Amino acid sequence: MEKFDVIIIGAGQAGNPLSKALAAAGKKIALVEEKYVGGTCINVGCTPTKTMIASAEVAQLVRQAHKYGVNCQDLSVDLSRVTERKREIVSQFRESSKQGIVDAGVSLIYGKATFTGHKTLEVTSQSSPRQLTAETIIIDAGGRPNIPDISGLDKADYFDSTTIMELKEVPEHLLILGGGYIALEFGQMFRRFGSQVTILQKSGQLLGREDADVAQEIQQILEEEGIQVYLNAQTETISQNSDNSIHLQVATPGDQIELSGSHLLVATGRIPNSDRMSVDKTGVKLDSRGYIAVNEKLETNIPGIYAAGDIKGGPAFTHIAYDDYRILEGNLLHEQSLSMKGRMVPYVLYTDPQLGRIGLSEKEAQAANINYKVAKIPMKSVARALELSRTSGFMKALVNPESKQILGAAVLGVEGREIMSMLQIAMLGNVPYPALRDGIFAHPTLAEALNTLFSSLP
Ligand SMILES: Cc1cc2nc3c(=O)[nH]c(=O)nc-3n(C[C@H](O)[C@H](O)[C@H](O)COP(=O)(O)OP(=O)(O)OC[C@H]3O[C@@H](n4cnc5c(N)ncnc54)[C@H](O)[C@@H]3O)c2cc1C
Repeated sequence: MEKFDVIIIGAGQAGNPLSKALAAAGKKIALVEEKYVGGTCINVGCTPTKTMIASAEVAQLVRQAHKYGVNCQDLSVDLSRVTERKREIVSQFRESSKQGIVDAGVSLIYGKATFTGHKTLEVTSQSSPRQLTAETIIIDAGGRPNIPDISGLDKADYFDSTTIMELKEVPEHLLILGGGYIALEFGQMFRRFGSQVTILQKSGQLLGREDADVAQEIQQILEEEGIQVYLNAQTETISQNSDNSIHLQVATPGDQIELSGSHLLVATGRIPNSDRMSVDKTGVKLDSRGYIAVNEKLETNIPGIYAAGDIKGGPAFTHIAYDDYRILEGNLLHEQSLSMKGRMVPYVLYTDPQLGRIGLSEKEAQAANINYKVAKIPMKSVARALELSRTSGFMKALVNPESKQILGAAVLGVEGREIMSMLQIAMLGNVPYPALRDGIFAHPTLAEALNTLFSSLP
C-alpha cells in the first residue's frame, strides 16, 4: 500500500491545478488519470470543439465573402486537415498541462482508480495494479456521453461528441439526436463544412433551460443556414441499411416520420463516471442521478473525501470545475471557509452568433417570483453589427427596477460572449444599469450598444 497525503482521481479542470497547489505546499500528492491529462475540456471538450468551430467559421466567412465585395471561388473543406489542426492544438495544451504537473513534483499515475475500501484505491493499467491510500481524497472523475436506450441504437454505427471529431470526411447527411449545446455546436459546424444536417430534439424547444425567445431565435438562425430542426421528436427505432446509411423512425406530434442520413451523432447529455469506480466501498453517497452528493464546500458525507467538477452535478463547465479547485485550495490549505454559495455561472454557446449567458433568465426570475424588467434590443440596431453585416440575434438584460441592479443577461449576437462578460463584470461590481446606460463607450464598438440596451427599458 502506497501512502500519500492526498489522492486526486482525474486530471481534469479541478484536479490539475489542485494537485500543483497541494504539491507546492509540500504535500505528497498522487494524481491518478485513466486517459489524458487535461480531462474532457482539453482533450475531447472545449479545446477541440472550439478549434474545429474556428475552421467552420472560416468556411462560412469564405462562403459569405461575396457580400463584402470579395470573391472567393471553389470553397472546399479538408476535414483531415481540420482534425489535424485540432489534434496539434489539443496535444500542445495537454503536454503543457502534463509538464506543469510533473514539474510541481506531483506523482502522476496513469490508470483507472477503483475504490477498494474506506480510503483505499486500486489503480489498474497495463502494468501491475497499485494500491494507494490517503486521508484526503478528491474525486474529479468527470462524466461521459449519455447513450439513450433506443431500439436498434446499439447495433448501429453512431458517433458521440468524442468520436465525431475524428471523422476523416465530411458527412453527406448528419442526423443529430439532441438539442442541447453540444448538438447545436456540432450541427452548425458540420453544416458549414458542407453536410446536410437534421437535428431531432425530444422536447418542445432547443436549449431547454433558456428562455423561449432565445431558443426560438437560435432555431431560426440555424434554419436560415439550412439546418432542419424537429421539435417534440421522439426517435423510436434506429436501423442501419446495407449501404451503412442510418434510418430513423420518429414520432412527432402530428405524424410518424422516417428519416435517413449518412451519419448519426448522439448528443443527448452526459452522465457522471461515478458508476465506474466502486464508490460504494467508501460509503460516499450519490444523488438520485448518480452524481456524488456534496455540500456547499464540496465535502461528501465521508470526512476527508471531496468531489469537484462535473461528477458532483450542477453546471458542467470548465470554469466551474476550476472554481471548485479554488474552493478546495482555500479550504484545504489556507483554513478558509469558501463555498459554492451564490457563485455566478456564466456560460457561452459557441454557435455563430454566440449566446453569452449570465445570471437569471426570465424563466428563472418568474419561477422565483422576482420582480424584474427586461431591456431588449435586436442586433440589427447595433451600428457595429451592421458594419460587420452580422446582425442576427438580440441582447437582453433583466434588471431590478428598484435597486437598478442587473440580474441577468442573454447576449445572442456577434461576440455575444464578450458583451455578456462586460455585463458580468458590472454585476460583480454591483454597477447599477443607469451607469451603463449613461456611460461613454468608444464608437464604433459592440459595447456602446449597452447605452441603447438600457435606454430601451420602459
Ligand atoms: C463536446 C464538449 C464541449 C464542451 N465545451 C465546453 C466549453 O466550451 N466550455 C466549458 O466551460 N465547458 C465545456 N465542456 C464541459 C467541460 O469539458 C467539463 O465541464 C469539464 O471538463 C469538467 O471538468 P472535470 O474536472 O469535472 O472533469 P473532466 O475534465 O471530465 O476530467 C475527468 C478526468 O477523470 C478521468 N477519470 C475518470 N474516471 C477515472 C478513474 N476511475 N480513474 C482515473 N481517472 C479517471 C478522466 O479520464 C478525465 O481525464 C464541454 C464538454 C464537451 C463534452
